[in-house]
Amino acid sequence: MNEHLSALSLHEQIKSGERSAVEVLEASYKRIDAVDQQVGAFNSLSRELAMQTAEEVDRKAKAGDALPLLAGVPLAVKDNINVQGYATTCSSKILQDYLSPYDATVTRKVKEHLLPIVGKTNLDEFAMGSSTENSATKITRNPWDLERVPGGSSGGSAAAVAAGETLLSLGSDTGGSVRQPAALCGLVGLKPTYGLVSRYGLVAFASSLDQVSPFARNVKDTAALLQVIAGFDDRDSTSLKLDIPNYLQSIDKPVDQLKIGIISELNGDGMQPEVAAAFQQAIETFKKLGAKVHTFSIPSIKYAVASYYILATAEASSNLARFDGVRYGLRVEGENIYDTYCKTRAEGFGPEVKRRIMLGTFSLSSGYYDAYYGKAQKIRKLLKNEFDKAWQQVDVLICPTSPTTAFKIGEKKDDPVSMYLSDIATIPVNLVGIPAISIPCGFDNLKLPIGLQIMGPHLSEEKLFRISQAFETATGLANLTPAELTAV
Ligand code: GLN
Repeated sequence: MNEHLSALSLHEQIKSGERSAVEVLEASYKRIDAVDQQVGAFNSLSRELAMQTAEEVDRKAKAGDALPLLAGVPLAVKDNINVQGYATTCSSKILQDYLSPYDATVTRKVKEHLLPIVGKTNLDEFAMGSSTENSATKITRNPWDLERVPGGSSGGSAAAVAAGETLLSLGSDTGGSVRQPAALCGLVGLKPTYGLVSRYGLVAFASSLDQVSPFARNVKDTAALLQVIAGFDDRDSTSLKLDIPNYLQSIDKPVDQLKIGIISELNGDGMQPEVAAAFQQAIETFKKLGAKVHTFSIPSIKYAVASYYILATAEASSNLARFDGVRYGLRVEGENIYDTYCKTRAEGFGPEVKRRIMLGTFSLSSGYYDAYYGKAQKIRKLLKNEFDKAWQQVDVLICPTSPTTAFKIGEKKDDPVSMYLSDIATIPVNLVGIPAISIPCGFDNLKLPIGLQIMGPHLSEEKLFRISQAFETATGLANLTPAELTAV
C-alpha cells in the first residue's frame, strides 16, 4: 500500500479513475505477502471476495456510476465479526473450523459500500486480553518494534493498518480493545456510543459493553469508516434509532470555546513518565487552540477495573455457554453428553477464557451475586452519575489512553492483574456507554507511539472528531509510519 496516502484520498483516486481498485487491492496483498510473515496480523485472507468487490468498483467507476463512501479501499476485519462463507475463529481452538453462515450487519454495510474485505485479523481469544498474546492462532507483533505487542484484543486489526497492509480495519471494543491497540500502534481508534453500531454478527463477549469500532491512520478516515458502519439495526435490540449525522461535513469546523476536563485520577501520575509528559504537552496544545482546562475528580474510577472484571466475565460466562460441542465448532467426544461438554470446553478454550468463565460463573452464583455482581452494577451507575456531572461543566474529558507504550512480548503474559490494569483509562468509557477516541500525541524515548484519549457525552462523535481533527492538524501527528518495516 502507499503508506502516505489516506483512505479518503485513495478513494478519490479510485473514483476519478486515476487508480483502479483491483490494482490497489493487489498492492495490499503484495504488502501482506511481504510483511505478514513477520507481523502476523491476519488469521486468514479472503482474496476471492475482495477481488470481486474491487472488480465491481472498477466496473462502476468506468461506467461513471456513483460510488459510495470509501468504495475500493481495502479493509481488514477482526476475526470475531462474521463474514458469510468465511471462517470466524475468534482466535480460539473451539471455533477453528467454524464458517460464518451469515454476514454481520457491519459486514453487510461495508459490502454495500464496496470496501474489499482482505481478510480476518488475529485477536486475543474471544477478545479477552490487551496484547493479542491470548490468541490460540499466532503471535501478532507491533510494526513499530517486532519484539513488542500491538496491544489487544484487536491487535491484528491495529497491526494490519500500522504495517501498511490495509489503510482501514474494524475491531471490537469491550474495555479498550480498539483504543489501546490504536495507542500502541500510532493509529486513531474510536469506540462509538453504545448502540450506535450494530452488534449483530459480532461474536458476543460482554454484550452490554461490546461495540464494533474503526481503526485508521488519521481522524478523517476514522470518521468516514464510522459513517459506513453506524446506524439503526432491528436485529440488535440495543441499537439506537436515530439519524446519523454527516461526520465529515462538520469535521473541519473550528472548536470554539472548548472546555476540556482532566480527570485527577487519570492525569498521568503513576504512568510511564514519557506518557505523562506527552499528556502534559497535549494539554498545552489544547490551551494554544483556545481551550479552557478544568480538573475533575471521578472518584469511582478507582473501582472501574474491578467492576469491569466482574461484569464482563459474568456476561462472558453466559455468552460462552453456547460453545458446547453440540451447536458450534469443535466437538471432543466423551462417554456421555456431559463428558462431551467438559472435554470439548477443556480442549477448546485457552487459559484466559477459562479463567474468565470461572470468575464470571462464581460472581453470578447465588450467595455471591449481591456481593459481587450487584455491587459492580452499583459502581457502574455511580460512574455514570459522576460522568454526567462532568458533562455539565466540560465538553470532553481527556487522559492518556494507556499508562504505558507497547510492552515486550511475554512481559505481562503471566501476570493477568498487571495486564488488566493496562485498561484503567479505557474501561470506564465502556461501563458508561459513552464514545471515546484515541489519537496519537507523541512518542517515547524508544520512538514508540503514545495515545491520547478524548471522551465525550453520549452521541458526541461529531464533536470528538472535530476536536481530534483540530489536534491532529496542530500537531501533524497523522498517517504515522513505523520505520522498521519501510525497508521491506
Ligand atoms: N483488555 C480488556 C479485556 O481483556 C478489554 C478487551 C476488549 O475490549 N475486548 O477484557
